[in-house]
Amino acid sequence: MIIMKTDAKPEEIANVVKEIKKYGLRADVSKGAFRTVIGLVGDETKIDFDHFATLPGVREAMMVETPYKLISREYSKFSETGEERFVVKVGDIEIGGDEPIYMAGPCAVETKEQLLKIAEGVKRAGAHILRGGIFKPRTSVHSFQGLGAGGEEEAKEALEWLREAGNKFEMPVVTEIRGETQVDLVADYVDILQIGARNMYDQDLITKVASKGKPILYKRHFGAGVEEFLSFAEYIAAEGNKNIILCERGIIPIGKGKSYTRYTLDLGAVPAIQKETYLPVMVDPSHAAGRRDLVPNMSYAAIAAGACGLMIEVHYNPAEALVDGQQMITPDELKETIDVCNRIHRVLGSSGNKD
Ligand code: PEP
Ligand code: MN
Repeated sequence: MIIMKTDAKPEEIANVVKEIKKYGLRADVSKGAFRTVIGLVGDETKIDFDHFATLPGVREAMMVETPYKLISREYSKFSETGEERFVVKVGDIEIGGDEPIYMAGPCAVETKEQLLKIAEGVKRAGAHILRGGIFKPRTSVHSFQGLGAGGEEEAKEALEWLREAGNKFEMPVVTEIRGETQVDLVADYVDILQIGARNMYDQDLITKVASKGKPILYKRHFGAGVEEFLSFAEYIAAEGNKNIILCERGIIPIGKGKSYTRYTLDLGAVPAIQKETYLPVMVDPSHAAGRRDLVPNMSYAAIAAGACGLMIEVHYNPAEALVDGQQMITPDELKETIDVCNRIHRVLGSSGNKD
């Protein structure tokens, strides 16, 4: 990490960046209100820090060998108290801002009519962003894989519906990208690119999605530790894309016998992650609980834990959904859930940390 002097000139910063490139590393320039900090992407052991310390405009040059640094509070311009946050802007919507943000919609896009009806319902309920899966990760090859599995034309048609529904009800849209071949196509249509829990570890996919420069909803793998989750999120930042929304969606339950929930929602991870990074953290109570009767309570708990928003699966008739019907709530239930969450948020103050 190279810390520049408060009065460092732009040409001095550019010179440091040029020197970093000579060593075969990449530079991540973070301009704060008072000083510029330059993070190094690559193997820092190759760098002669004494040399960097003598360059004009440099205050300090030091090695930082941690799995994540570009997204960490410690090495960024964001303070370590956990109060300052990076806000991901999607149109007028601020994720990680002062108000909780709700993403809602069907697990899978099934028909245009289904999507438009759900979009209308979630908008009325107070959602800000419309979700809908087109490439579905499924355990069984015999299950419905999402309309995208039908081929490029089918994928395009479903993406057009999602775009149209978002435009009609004035909501940005988010959908999951499951493989590298889907990146270019999906990025043409949607505002937020989702990397699902199962692909959290796919470096090549993460890097390709990050290179689009669009906001990314990045979900924690159900077996990943927090450090691992953040270390892989660093791959996105290393592409120069800091528009990262982290999402806790439940980890594998422990012990023998029935767990009664699909996963275990790790809510302690929310404030813990916020201490480590300035990135916004959302929670997905739907996949975590796996049952609609638990979704409202898990939502309230997530907001109380400091989540900056929620992703919730919604259907007007969950019984007829092709995927995840058991965990979908109705638009009316979503409205009630959002209303209570907003009340909890008001009592607790801003989203983010509550020390
Ligand atoms: C989803 O959000 O559609 C999804 C499949 O979630 P996860 O990747 O968390 O399982
Ligand atoms: Mn689902």
